[in-house]
Amino acid sequence: MPPERTAEAALRPRRLEEFVGQQVVRDQLSLVLDAAAARGRAPEHMLLSGPPGLGKTTLAMIIAAELSAPLRITSGPAIQHAGDLAAILSSLDEGEVLFIDEIHRLARPAEEMLYIAMEDFRVDVVVGKGVGATSIPLDLPPFTVVGATTRAGLLPAPLRDRFGFIGHLDFYGAEELREVVRRSAVRLEVELEDRAAIEIASRSRGTPRIANRLLRRVRDWAQVRGSGALDLGAAKEALRVYEVDDRGLDRLDRAVLSALCGRFAGGPVGLSTLAVAVGEETETVETMIEPYLVREGFLLRTPRGRAAAPAAWEHLGLEPPAGAEG
Ligand code: ATP
Repeated sequence: MPPERTAEAALRPRRLEEFVGQQVVRDQLSLVLDAAAARGRAPEHMLLSGPPGLGKTTLAMIIAAELSAPLRITSGPAIQHAGDLAAILSSLDEGEVLFIDEIHRLARPAEEMLYIAMEDFRVDVVVGKGVGATSIPLDLPPFTVVGATTRAGLLPAPLRDRFGFIGHLDFYGAEELREVVRRSAVRLEVELEDRAAIEIASRSRGTPRIANRLLRRVRDWAQVRGSGALDLGAAKEALRVYEVDDRGLDRLDRAVLSALCGRFAGGPVGLSTLAVAVGEETETVETMIEPYLVREGFLLRTPRGRAAAPAAWEHLGLEPPAGAEG
């Protein structure tokens, strides 16, 4: 595991009660889990959707922990062929939780195999090749799929319909993120001044993963360049070094807004053109950058493409051209 991922894993909450925020999803989930426990049965399949870094993987791990069930982790892109999925499904233990990250990226044959397995707890294993190939149905023990996706809209209806519970994770509020960094500081065994926690929380793009990452960078700054204390001064300086501005936007967020306002005169411009202009994949712009810019009122999705909102011009200190959209 890369070091950043290991550092992140160490900060994951382990139980539902430690999971900060997302009250609605948490309540719904705890009901599903309690009901399953009362019936002594594996709970229905669950789908978690929302932008990256909001806690989908963490919740999947919590679900398995709350059920005291083993957890198998895979992802849509890791399953190249239906056979890969058949191998996983046929080796599941009773009650096991199968976490499939980026489930919207499963190849079609695997997707079809998955929804049959989810519905009928059966997988058809194909033996042999060509005309001699035969398909042998194999019964599976009850298990629970937890799917995660940043793009719930891309899931085909037959697959989406197999989930008995769909939870949508939304960006966190500043108060919740403050609690996330406060708890993470305890785990990291560092003392964090409350004003520093508030500063980090307000600049974390509504995302716990970013809040934890910024906390670690502030700790670096405090240890290497500061007095060791994680105070407001250290937070501000570290965030300046890492080019996180007072609205929590980073270099790439600003690059998107600058391209939109500068190169495309505020738009509207197609998403892929915008992505090329900042040298990123369209999917990165769409799933990692755009949702927060839309939510903060910097960027507008219009039928003709992406357009800069007045707040974008203001944030960049630019004058919108007369008659600009937004
Ligand atoms: P991706 O899909 O990009 O993997 P994700 O939505 O699965 O993202 P996680 O990996 O679960 O996100 O969370 C990222 C980090 O944020 C975790 O290491 C965890 O420490 C922290 N985190 C997420 N949600 C919470 C929460 N509600 N409370 C405390 N910490 C959280």
